[in-house]
Amino acid sequence: MIHPGTELRLVNEVVGYGVFATVLIPEGTIVYVKDSLETVITPTDYLLHPPAMREVVDKYSYIDQDGNRIVSWDFAKYVNHCCNCNTISTGYGFEMAIRDILPGEQITDEYGIFNLDEEMTLVCGEASCRKRIGPDDFDLHYRDWDEKIQRSIGFLFEVDQPLLSFVDEATRQELDTLFLNPSSYKSVYALKLKKG
Ligand SMILES: [Zn+2]
Repeated sequence: MIHPGTELRLVNEVVGYGVFATVLIPEGTIVYVKDSLETVITPTDYLLHPPAMREVVDKYSYIDQDGNRIVSWDFAKYVNHCCNCNTISTGYGFEMAIRDILPGEQITDEYGIFNLDEEMTLVCGEASCRKRIGPDDFDLHYRDWDEKIQRSIGFLFEVDQPLLSFVDEATRQELDTLFLNPSSYKSVYALKLKKG
């Protein structure tokens, strides 16, 4: 589920749709959570779909640490990648704003965390653009991602969290632990696809 202060808009014919903030979304706000209605496609289920359907799933899903493809039931699936993203997935499963996002600004994300099984060309237009992302990105960049998350995660406990009631109980307990003991921080590496 995507943050309620967002809307779907056509970016242009090349990029297609994107998700934009309609309100100020402060740093530390949970912007996406994998709620109980998300479609979870296991590796076996995926293979049972015809090739044309697999292409659609590939376009709109991300792959979790267990190899499941997750397709959002709402327009969270239209969030685009940017090498200078303003939200990022965390080891807690949800995505969080890593700076203040102004009304009208596009919500962007780091696709390198999504366990891509093949390389993808990037057109984000940032000076720091990596040009392509692929299966190696997790190992190459997770330390940078953790640094970005850790700079903002303290704000998690200070800002309004409209999506908190959709975070599962186990994760909420982990957040309680994090609040009491910041050194219990869980690396984004927890989202990396487990082998075997
Ligand atoms: Zn880029």
